[in-house]
Amino acid sequence: IPPAHCPPDVEQLGQATWAFLHSAAAYYPERPTPHQRANMLNLLHALPVLYPCSHCASDFGEKIKQHPPDVSGQRPLSRWLCERHNEVNEKLGKESFDCHKTDERWRDGPEDGSCD
Ligand code: FAD
Repeated sequence: IPPAHCPPDVEQLGQATWAFLHSAAAYYPERPTPHQRANMLNLLHALPVLYPCSHCASDFGEKIKQHPPDVSGQRPLSRWLCERHNEVNEKLGKESFDCHKTDERWRDGPEDGSCD
């Protein structure tokens, strides 16, 4: 792990980006306005162009083409993103994440209150 004052490596960049994306999805409205939908689509479609890990970006671009983002509301968007993250997990030999736990992980925290 590079020290905090060093530029992020691919792992740190990934952790930070997933935290942002899952958090944005967790707090996305249940009934987004057309403006909110359009901006979420822009954000997601910008990743294959601008994400600063070129092979990550191009693979993610292919996945987005196969599975277009569902920006119709918080649940479908969080689900869609969880599935895309699981595709990356699978590619890297990491454990699959249970997508039923997305809200707990990124918005509500565990029931035991340990994150309150
Ligand atoms: P991360 O995968 O960073 O996950 C962080 C936390 O998110 C986990 O601790 C877990 O609590 C939670 N989580 C895990 N899976 C899910 C899920 N499905 N839904 C919701 N929450 C979940 N790295 C590469 O080496 N090659 C690549 O091609 C590559 N492509 C990437 C593409 C994108 C768009 C992004 C954002 C990152 C990519 N990465 C890639 C980085 C990689 O996904 C990881 O971020 C990095 O390997 C660090 O992994 P980690 O085990 O710390 O946990």
